[in-house]
Amino acid sequence: MSLFAAVEMAPRDPILGLNEQFNADTNPAKVNLGVGVYYDENGKLPLLRCVAEAEAQMQAAPKARGYLPIDGIAAYDQAVQGLVFGADSAAVREARVATVQALGGTGGLKIGADFLKRLSPDAQVLISDPSWENHRALFTNAGFKVSTYPYYDAEQRGIHVAGMLATLQAAAPGTIVVLHACCHNPTGYDLSAEQWAQVVEVVKARGLVAFLDMAYQGFGEGIAEDGAVVQQFLAAGLDFFVSTSFSKSFSLYGERVGALSVVCVSPEEAKRVLSQLKIVIRTNYSNPPTHGAQVVAMVLSTPALRAMWEEELAGMRLRIREMRQALVAELKAAGVSQDLSFVTRQKGMFSYSGLNAAQMQRLRSEFGIYGVDSGRICVAALNGKNLKAVAAAMAAVIA
Ligand code: PMP
Repeated sequence: MSLFAAVEMAPRDPILGLNEQFNADTNPAKVNLGVGVYYDENGKLPLLRCVAEAEAQMQAAPKARGYLPIDGIAAYDQAVQGLVFGADSAAVREARVATVQALGGTGGLKIGADFLKRLSPDAQVLISDPSWENHRALFTNAGFKVSTYPYYDAEQRGIHVAGMLATLQAAAPGTIVVLHACCHNPTGYDLSAEQWAQVVEVVKARGLVAFLDMAYQGFGEGIAEDGAVVQQFLAAGLDFFVSTSFSKSFSLYGERVGALSVVCVSPEEAKRVLSQLKIVIRTNYSNPPTHGAQVVAMVLSTPALRAMWEEELAGMRLRIREMRQALVAELKAAGVSQDLSFVTRQKGMFSYSGLNAAQMQRLRSEFGIYGVDSGRICVAALNGKNLKAVAAAMAAVIA
C-alpha cells in the first residue's frame, strides 16, 4: 500500500486549464485572452529596456551571491516604500512602516496573512465578490474563514458601492478587508476617490484591518494616481497592510519580485512588527532571492533608469487604453448596437466584457478565442493583428 494511495487529485486551476486547452487548439487564428500578463503590440512578453540596462550594468560588475537578510535587500525595501507611500511621507520619514521583500505580490499577501493569523486568530477575512481567485485560497490556507463583500454590479456595469459599504459597516471590529488598490482583478472597475473616502471612513469607524493588494501600480492612470488610495489611508491615521507586486509593472513575472509593507503607529511598533514578519519568512523560506529585487532596486534608485521605466510603464498603460477604445470601436463597426463604452471606463489589464459563460464557450469552440467563463478577458493581450478577429467573434456571439 503506497503512502500516497489516498491522495486525491486536486482540481485543476481554471485559468491554467484554459491555457492548456489553448495550447492544444490547432486553430491558427487562436487568441489567448485568458492570461494575466501584458503582451506588447507584437503579442510578445516584453523585456523592459530599463531591466535589460540594469542587468547589463550588473553583468559588468558581477557579484557573489551570499544570503540576503531575511527581510531582503535594504535598498529595495526602501525603494518600495518610496514608490508606495512617497519617500517624504510622514510614515516613511518617521520609520513607522515595516517593509519586507517578498516572492511576488502573492508572497507579500501570504506573509501578511500568516502574520495576521498569529495576531488575530479568530478574525474573519472579507474579499471582493468577485476577486482574484487566489485571495480566497490564500487566506483560507492561512487558517481564516473567508467571506465576500459585494463588488461587481452586473446590471449597472460598475461597482455595488452601497452593498460594499453596508457589508463593511456590519463587519465585526478586527475583520480583515482585502482591497484591490487599483485595476481590480477580474472586473476592471475601480472605486473613485470619493468612494474610497467612504471605505476609509467605515474601516476607521468600525476598527477594520485594511489589506491593500497593489498588483498593478502604474497600469491604471499612473504611478501616483494608482497609489492615491494609500495616501487616503495614511491621511486617516490608520495602521494597514500593503502588498506590492512588480510582476506586471516591470514585466518580471518569473523573478517573483514583491513586498509587504505594514504601516504602524510608531517606529518602535514597526520594529516589533518587522521582527514577527521576519519569523514568518524565516520559517517558510529563510530569505528571498537576489536577482529580481536587485534589478528593481537599481532601476528605482537610478534617475536615468527610473525615467526609462516610467516611460515604458506609461507605454504599456497607454497601449492597454488604446486597445480598450479600439475594441469598443471595432465591436460597433461589427454591428454590435449595445453600449459597450463601459470597457473604456475599466482600468488595468482586465475587462469584464459582460459576456456570459455560454458566449465565452462559443468564443472558444467556434473562434479559438480563449477568455474566462466569467466573461473576463485580458485587454493587454489584444493587438493590432488580433483585434478585428476578436471583435468579429465577440459580435457574432453577442448577436
Ligand atoms: N493580486 C492580484 C490582484 C493579482 O492579480 C495578482 C497576479 N495575477 C497577484 C496579486 C499576484 O502577483 P504576483 O504574480 O506578483 O505574485
